[in-house]
Formats: sequence, C-alpha cells, structure tokens
Amino acid sequence: MDEPSPHETVIEVAIPAPLDRTFHYRVPPQHVTRARVGCRALVPFGRRTVTGYILAITDRSDHPLKDALEILDPAPLLSPEELEFLRWTAQYYLHPLGEVLKAALPRGINIVGRMKTVLDEDGVPVEREVLRGGRGILTERFCLPRPDAVEPARLSEKCRTLLAAIRDAGELSAGALRREFGSCSPQIRLLDERGLIEILEREVYRDPFRQETVQRDTPLPLNPDQAAALARIGDALEAGGFAPFLLHGVTGSGKTEVYLQAIARVVAAGRTALVLVPEISLTPQLVVRFRRRFTCGIAVLHSGLSDGERYDEWRRIRRNEVAIVIGARSAIFAPLHRIGIVVVDEEHDGSYKQAEGLRYNARDLALVRGRQAEAVVVLGSATPLVTTRHAADEGKLGYLPLPRRARGLPLPETVLIDTQGKRDTFLPPLKDALAENLEKGGQSLVFLNRRGFATWLVCNDCGHVLRCPNCAVTLTYHRSRNQHGCHYCGYAIPAPSVCPGCDGTEIGLLGRGTERVEDELKELYPEARVARMDRDTTAGRGGHARVLRGIEDGSIDILVGTQMIAKGHDFPGVTLVGVISADASLNLPDFRSAERTFQLLTQVSGRAGRGDQPGRVLIQTADPGHYAVACAAEHDYERFCAQELEFRRELGYPPFSHLALVILSGITAAAVEAAAADAVRALRDIRKGSRRRVEILGPAVAPLGLVRGRHRWQVLLKAPVRADLRGIITAFRDRFRPVAPVRMAIDIDPVDML
Ligand code: ADP
Ligand code: ZN
Repeated sequence: MDEPSPHETVIEVAIPAPLDRTFHYRVPPQHVTRARVGCRALVPFGRRTVTGYILAITDRSDHPLKDALEILDPAPLLSPEELEFLRWTAQYYLHPLGEVLKAALPRGINIVGRMKTVLDEDGVPVEREVLRGGRGILTERFCLPRPDAVEPARLSEKCRTLLAAIRDAGELSAGALRREFGSCSPQIRLLDERGLIEILEREVYRDPFRQETVQRDTPLPLNPDQAAALARIGDALEAGGFAPFLLHGVTGSGKTEVYLQAIARVVAAGRTALVLVPEISLTPQLVVRFRRRFTCGIAVLHSGLSDGERYDEWRRIRRNEVAIVIGARSAIFAPLHRIGIVVVDEEHDGSYKQAEGLRYNARDLALVRGRQAEAVVVLGSATPLVTTRHAADEGKLGYLPLPRRARGLPLPETVLIDTQGKRDTFLPPLKDALAENLEKGGQSLVFLNRRGFATWLVCNDCGHVLRCPNCAVTLTYHRSRNQHGCHYCGYAIPAPSVCPGCDGTEIGLLGRGTERVEDELKELYPEARVARMDRDTTAGRGGHARVLRGIEDGSIDILVGTQMIAKGHDFPGVTLVGVISADASLNLPDFRSAERTFQLLTQVSGRAGRGDQPGRVLIQTADPGHYAVACAAEHDYERFCAQELEFRRELGYPPFSHLALVILSGITAAAVEAAAADAVRALRDIRKGSRRRVEILGPAVAPLGLVRGRHRWQVLLKAPVRADLRGIITAFRDRFRPVAPVRMAIDIDPVDML
C-alpha cells in the first residue's frame, strides 16, 4: 500500500460474489489511462485474485487502498445505460451487482490472452496469443498482394502458383490456401520476406448460420387487423418515447408479420430491434423468416451456442454490426445500442423466468429496458398472461387485438373426450380420428406432457414404488435405455427384474409417457410413419430441426411429443391434434396450473389447420367441465380470463397482489425446517416494526420437498402493494442469515412454486 497522493485514481469495483457491497482500489499510474467505467479489473480480494467490474472512477479515498493488478479490457464492456439497467436488475431481484454483471456478460469473455511460442499448422514455431479458457477470439492470417512489388525471376513453381492465386483473389486466408494447395507455410513466409505479399492477422467470427443461404421474401399485404396494429405501433415509434403494447392474436393470426413490419420501420430509422423468443432451437422457422426479410446484420443468441460462438455474436452486437438480435431469455442483456423496439414473442411462456441464481424474468425486464431506451415494447401471445391482459384493461399497455387467423382460416373444431372410468391410452373417438386422418393423407400431432415410457414402477405384492433417493419423485421408466431415471437430478438405475422391496416378480409399470404412446401408435397403425419429439429424442445439436424437417417434408404422419410440439410451429400439413390427457398440468399444486393448462391446450390446438385444410382437435380429459379445459376447447380466451381473474381476486394472487418466495434448502431436513421457522420469525418481527401490509405464509415444505439431495422449505410473501413487499423483503435480506450450511434464495415474482 503506497502513500496517498493528491492525484490518485481510485476505482469502485463490483465483485461477483454473494456480497451486497462494492470495493475500492487504487489504480497504479501505468494503468490509469486504461481504467474506465464498464471495464473489468483484476484485483486482489482476500487471498485470491478476482475479476471485478469498474462501476465508478474517483480521485480520492479516505482509506488506504490495495492496488488493482490489471485493467483487462481496452474498451468498456458495458455502456453507462447497460450499467444502469443491470443496477436496476440487481436491486429489483435482490441479487449482488457483481453477480448480475457476470451473468449479463457472455461466458466466453473470461478469457485472458498470453503470448506464447506454439507450433503452427505446418509444425513451425511461431509467436501466438494463446487464450486461457479454451475458446476465445478466433483469428486467421490473410495474405494480400503488394501491388507495387515486382516478381523476381527466380521463384519456385509453388510460390508462383500461390502468388497468382492471391493476386487473383485480392486476398486469401492461409487456411484457404492450404485447403487448395496443401501445406504451404514456408512458401507463404518466403513471399512475405521478398515483399511480394503482406500478411495480416484478422479476427474472424464463427458463423452459427453455417453460411446457409435463404431465399429473400417481401412484406405481405396486411389484413385490416394487422394493419391497425401496425399503425398504432408506427404512431408510437414516430412519437418516440416508451410505449408498451400487448399484441393479442389467436394462433396463426399473423403476429410475426406484424413484428417483421414494425421492425423494418425501426431499422429503416437507424435504430435496432431486440426480439425475445422462448427457445430458439424449438422455433428455427422464426429465425429463417427474419433472415428472408432483412439484409441487415442479425445476431442469434440461444443455449445451443458454444461459449465461443456466443462471444462472437456478443462482439458483433457490441460493435454495431447487427441491427436485430433474436434470442432466448438471456438476450435481454445483449449489448445493443439505440434500441427502438423490443418484441417478446409468446410473452406468457414460463421459460422467460430463470429458475436459479439470478432469478430474473426476461419478459418483465423487457419492459424495464424498453422504458430506459425509450423504445416500443410489443408483448405478443395467443394466450396472454391474465396479469398482462389485466394491465392492458387498466390502460397500462396498449391493446392490439388480432381476433382472426391471417389467411381467413377457421380455428380448429375441438371435441372433449371424457376419460373417467376408462383406462385406454386412445379412446375410440381419438383412435378413429387418427385412422381417418391417416387415410386422407393428413398429418397428426399427438400431445402428452410427460416423457419416458411409464411414470412409475409398482410391486403388486408389497406396493413398493421406485423413488429417486435424491428427489421427492418417482422414477420414470425409459424403455429405450431399459432404465428407471429421475427427471430432476438424472439419477438412473437399470430396470430390476424383481421387486427391490420384496423380491417378488409381480411388478407393473403404471402411467404412461410419450415413449409408450409412440409404441401404442405403431401397434395401432402399423402403416403409419410415427416419430417422437421430446427431450430424449432431440438431445444434441440440430435434434429439433431434424424432427421438424420430417414434418415439413411430409416424411412423418404422426408426431408424438411433449410441449415441444406445442410451441409456435407453422405446419401447414397438420390437420389433426390429439391430446392424450389434459390433466397432468391441471393438478399441479400451483396457483397458475389452470392458466398453464389453458395456454398449453390452446397452443397445441393452434397447430391444427394452418394450411389449406381445416383442422380438428380431440382432447381427452377426466375433467371436461373445468373452465381451463372447456374454454380452451371453445377458443374462448375472454371467458377463461374473466374466471381466472375472479379466482385470483378471491385468493389474493397476482395481479391483485405481489409475491416473493423465500426458499431454504440443505442436506439435513431438521436444519432446514428450523431455518424456515427462524425466517418466519424474522419476517414477522420486521413486519411488526413497520406498517406494511404483507401476508407471511408458511413455513411449509416445498411441493418438491427434496431435489438433488437437498431438502426444501419455503415461505411465501404476498402484498397488495409492491412497495410494502419490497420494504419487508429488503430489510429481511439485509438482516437475516440462515445458520450455515442451510442456504437461502429469494425469488421475486416467482413463476414456478414447486
Ligand atoms: P402467428 O405468429 O400469429 O401464429 P404467423 O405470423 O405465423 O402467425 O402467421 C400464420 C400464417 O399466416 C403464416 O403462414 C403467415 O405467412 C401467414 N400470414 C400472416 N400474415 C398474412 C397476411 N397478411 N396475408 C396472408 N398470409 C399471412
Ligand atoms: Zn432425483
């Protein structure tokens, strides 16, 4: 620690650790010019060296400070606007700022370069930057001709050929030369030494599109509903400033066309667009539609990218080389400048909520980012969250309805089939409809939201059930692997031939999953080409695309699948949708289970009849009178929404309250239970000292009371006024620590209460 001097440069740094404060460091003179807000700095922290993020630069401190070791970035990674957005995020979700900043930056960025002598492709030692962390910036050597150079008389045949090729092309990468002429490093070096060519090391991007080309298309003439929606968005764009909308359009109503044309206006005005979708690998069609329409740069961010690809996309965005970013949840943090519009497609989708760590909701943050950027925000869905619809009714969002299908097609006719007292997977009406559709040459989707073959194994003698030792769930039998596996932690055992409880041989497999449904379909319709789409059949890169292509090119007659097949695919050949059971999601212990069921049934029904032929939907259910099921069958969002809001009002759930969930977890059940009781006591204490109206519910065992060997208890907070909830939960976070090793997590606006 040096003596303080009057001209010191001091940085305030956020550290990615569970700490609610920031730290100050002195910047040594040789680094001062590089230290800027938004850059990363390598700093000593306790006994470790860590990467922190510079939040502010001052010139004084009251305390003696440690020195920062290095400034890691030549230019800021985060702009002041991004920092402001991330600060807001950290405060709202009660998460340490350093961890929020780390989560917002691409993982591939934590790579530090070192110069090192390595062997090049031909085994010749050269100086290269080697990147720690595996994948980093890709560079390639490019050979350019020197225009004024005179070709010497004595030059080998190979050198002459290479030089001619380089002059011909204007420039060629060393890789391209090698591919065409074989190993040629010595010759390239010779050409360079003789002053005939110039060698430049240049960054290249990994291309997630793999150079696939697409056919261009042009905007469709809009129908009156679409035109009205676009006009209101256009007015808002022209007026400038923050303007949020709900685009409520039935399945196939042409919402995507409205997004495309609104974005075209934004791009033409020199601004950029951020498009959030639930999961891109499930909707490759959407990305293709964007690439057909736009010539400007498009970046695609999704979970299938390698760290290196993600980093490359991030850098293209950062450098203003793209005008449109399409991405799943985490794309909300894309370093896009001059945002003019944020689109959240399928805004009701639960996957916008991150379930662990920083438990943010990208749909909600889209509104926050849109407000900060003074942009238009369009939330689109056929089944908006009832909370979103309520906000639109209250005038907080502009309401843009698309009540009809774009191409004038009717919504599919839907029939409910009562399964009470029946055991078959396929009841006669569904069986007949599938046979009939097959005969007509139509394609069918069969939906069941449960993968695997059987849901559980039970012994008929002793009643023993195979359970996961780490999680409070039964094991699912997967016949393709002949294993019983846990869908939460991955635990798996080979299928036993006798009961593990009593050694009896009378073991049975109960319940069914997509694997068993696929089997039965093959047996019922031996001539049909049956395929399955769930997490088991689509593992690996391109897995989804393969199945989707089979539907598109007509090589699949019947596709069985989980909710993956319900997402926004546009399959013109599908004329029949069968739902094996609507009830699995209805009986979950969560106040959103009716809403989820309605959304799922509506989405999967919406896959039928999108082409020239009308579609039919058959839904098997044990509870045909339930409003979620009945309203989905009648395509009656309004009635569903009214009933659901009535239910929420009675029980005081959102939108009539705000929620926070405190989750305690640990290995020892008793310790977790005690910590949960302590938490409730602390919360009551804090509430007593304030005048805030907050309901404290619990402690209770979480519906999934054991996951990956950790016991879980929870406390739910409910408040009609958000400020009251914030007051209590913030004070609680600052004051309460569970006794180690019990861990605590706070989930603001929880989506999944399991
Ligand atoms: P959504 O996103 O609402 O489910 P899409 O945008 O996928 O609907 O549109 C459904 C189908 O209707 C697509 O095949 C699309 O090309 C077509 N479509 C959309 N708008 C129009 C229009 N104005 N005229 C003709 N066809 C349209
Ligand atoms: Zn498990």
